[in-house]
Amino acid sequence: MAQEDLFKKLVAHCKEYGYVFQSSEIYDGLGAVYDYGQNGVELKNNIKKYWWDSMVLLHENVVGIDSAIFMHPTIWKASGHVDAFNDPLIDNKDSKKRYRADVLIEEQLAKIEDKINKEVEKAAKRFGDAFDEKQFRETNARVLENQQKWDALHNRFAKALNDGNLDELRQIIVDEEIVCPISGTRNWTEVRQFNLMFSTEMGSTADGALKVYLRPETAQGIFVNYLNVQKTGRMKLPFGIAQIGKAFRNEIVARQFIFRMREFEQMEMQFFVKPGTELDWFEKWKTTRMNWHKALGFGDENYRFHVHEKLAHYANAAVDVEYKFPFGFKEVEGIHSRTDFDLSQHEKYSGKKIRYFDPELNESYVPFVVETSIGVDRMFLQVLSAAYCEEQLENDTRVVLKIPPVLAPVKLAVLPLVKKDGLPEIARRIIDDLKFEFNCQYDEKDSIGKRYRRQDAIGTPFCVTVDNQTLEDNSVTIRYRDSMEQERVAISQLSSIIGQQVSYKNLFAKI
Ligand code: ATP
Repeated sequence: MAQEDLFKKLVAHCKEYGYVFQSSEIYDGLGAVYDYGQNGVELKNNIKKYWWDSMVLLHENVVGIDSAIFMHPTIWKASGHVDAFNDPLIDNKDSKKRYRADVLIEEQLAKIEDKINKEVEKAAKRFGDAFDEKQFRETNARVLENQQKWDALHNRFAKALNDGNLDELRQIIVDEEIVCPISGTRNWTEVRQFNLMFSTEMGSTADGALKVYLRPETAQGIFVNYLNVQKTGRMKLPFGIAQIGKAFRNEIVARQFIFRMREFEQMEMQFFVKPGTELDWFEKWKTTRMNWHKALGFGDENYRFHVHEKLAHYANAAVDVEYKFPFGFKEVEGIHSRTDFDLSQHEKYSGKKIRYFDPELNESYVPFVVETSIGVDRMFLQVLSAAYCEEQLENDTRVVLKIPPVLAPVKLAVLPLVKKDGLPEIARRIIDDLKFEFNCQYDEKDSIGKRYRRQDAIGTPFCVTVDNQTLEDNSVTIRYRDSMEQERVAISQLSSIIGQQVSYKNLFAKI
């Protein structure tokens, strides 16, 4: 299936099965704002638990906080967001559509990369086992020509970004003959900067009201609480503070469903370290975070690191974890070495000392920070993109969400084969017994086959069927979502069979 079709189907599936709804749908929706339905909220909560526990339970030197969305407006001046949290935007005069200039150029780079990869794939097929990819990439004329093009464009783009040169960004778009996908023309406006922060007013009177921002990241809530946590928790460097919470960005181009939203949720951890050790910690967190992703079992080849072309004003190293979405490799998480920029800025703007007294060195200094920052919603989309499958069966097809059991919204469905002979009562008793451990669903409507399909479509990993034999020997069949195999087991075994498969502990052991 073409990848775009797959993505369209996934979006429709999310709506049909209670995962994601357009916000304010009965009023025709609100751009790039979404609501999570009855299954979506469960998956989201499970993703958050996986992240939170992997930070706070597994690391004795990482603790959590929950800071407010509203913060003193000077925080955003100090952090640089008021002056520099901008995206370069460009409009196409014919379609009147707005784009991010940097994204247009990144897509052009991806196209060249695609050409190279296709060439390599073709050759790999042709040469079979004898294929030496490294040698091919270094010697094939077409690959070399495209690689040179890519390098030249990449260098020019990186320089324009680093210099903040908007004219040059536009010139690259013109020189590369990039067209608007809607109008197909190259009739572009100038490139302008656009600040992404939402603002509102706090206070009752117009003159007395204070302009406040809806936070565009959760990180600053951690920085301004650094001293509170360090002192009250008697934390010693290195230590981390984790937080999950909403963030808001007035994104220029809000496409691709929940990939880019105006209201979204972040899971961020700021790790405070001794100056000079930050790049070692950066490497350690890169490994830990990549392992966290790969432990879900969606295929190691679908992940890669992407090193930033342009370092943000606060960073001395930065990398993205990218996943191969149906629309290409895209960022899921950012890992940044933020130096002492944020804490130093807050010292300057607040006039308060924000330091760490190092008992070993007998001196105080501003700690350096390594950050890991991942979007809950983007992770949600990553899980569903990886999980969505259409399978051709012998006489049928099925859509199944192969969500790792530990993250699945509903863990088991209990299905009486028929609505009589006391089978529904037994099914209810099984649920009553297991509902304290697992999210269970009861379903007695339609044929058993239809019920299995419904559970496949929402990703329920286990279906337990109660039949006449249950009356005789207290056994049931358990059907496994991915293999569709069925097994006869005692009711008393269910808790341990399912418990084993949905345990976070097993997942953590892989990190
Ligand atoms: P992008 O380049 O995609 O705009 P970013 O580099 O600005 O992202 P960060 O500021 O590093 O993103 O934010 C950290 C994480 O927060 C991202 O990796 C992503 O998962 C998530 N995120 C950022 N912006 C959005 C958004 N508008 N909608 C959903 N998730 C987002």
